[in-house]
Amino acid sequence: MPNKTERVVVTVSIDTECDHDINWARSKPLTFDSINEGLPNRLQPIYREIGVVPTYLLTVEVLEDDTCVNTLKTLQGDFEYGTHLHAGFIEPYKKYHEYAGVACSDFQCNDPEHIEYQKLENLSNLFTEKLGTKPTSFRAGRYGASSQSIRNLEKLGYLVDTSVTPRILWPEADGGVDFRTAPLQPYVPAMDDINKAAAVGARRIIEAPVTVKARPFRRNPHWFRPWFSDANTMKLIAHYHLKKFQDLPVVNLNMMFHSMEVIEQASPYPQTKADVDVFLSSMHEVLTWCQEEGFEFSGLTDLHSIYNPQG
Ligand SMILES: [Zn+2]
Repeated sequence: MPNKTERVVVTVSIDTECDHDINWARSKPLTFDSINEGLPNRLQPIYREIGVVPTYLLTVEVLEDDTCVNTLKTLQGDFEYGTHLHAGFIEPYKKYHEYAGVACSDFQCNDPEHIEYQKLENLSNLFTEKLGTKPTSFRAGRYGASSQSIRNLEKLGYLVDTSVTPRILWPEADGGVDFRTAPLQPYVPAMDDINKAAAVGARRIIEAPVTVKARPFRRNPHWFRPWFSDANTMKLIAHYHLKKFQDLPVVNLNMMFHSMEVIEQASPYPQTKADVDVFLSSMHEVLTWCQEEGFEFSGLTDLHSIYNPQG
């Protein structure tokens, strides 16, 4: 088959949250090094050097914190801001009013459709109140999104969701999410099934799945994600997508991680400054390689006009 790919577009989508502990509970006392040190001093210098346009998906507690909002408003370079929901931290039925030390495992898609809508609406309004624009990109906390979530996001004007992690089942007592059959490349999701592609133009919103590569005989795939994969593995994942989707005019590589992963002891991942340096150097290596290969970088929302121009 001739290679028809004309463009490779790299997106870097980052769940942007308060610092956490090694068990994924929110830090106690609540701290925001991941925002105030991580974004301006550890991530943006690398992205500005390479020309990456990251998308920072912001949680409730970040948008509620004045120092964080000031950091976001004064951040240098190109980037996009979107939203990221952990459902227990916003009305209606807000579960936690003190965030420090709290772990929240709720999947937003397990709420009734109108409750999930109101939570997303409140998060979106908070974003607009603090940053002055409307959010157009989103990821669900713990990837807990369903076709219901996509309908709600679409009603609120979102253009791109990036909650789908193909080849992965996320179990949960109240009902898990199962993305094992989801497409690997961006698609227009069917109204009643987040794992199915509808025709281009059938609706407005698109799904940009997190980039993975299945591993034979293993439950979980390789992720295009620093710390989970070293630089060579990330390049192999990229090559896999380029080959598998060589008949597509555009191929997307969507890296994901959390802002907390670039701060030592702010997530279950890097625990020392040396660990953080390993994380950042492997991210730097793979993104530099993308640049040298002639790939483009864009925010998530720019994928919309590529994958659903009429939608
Ligand atoms: Zn999260």
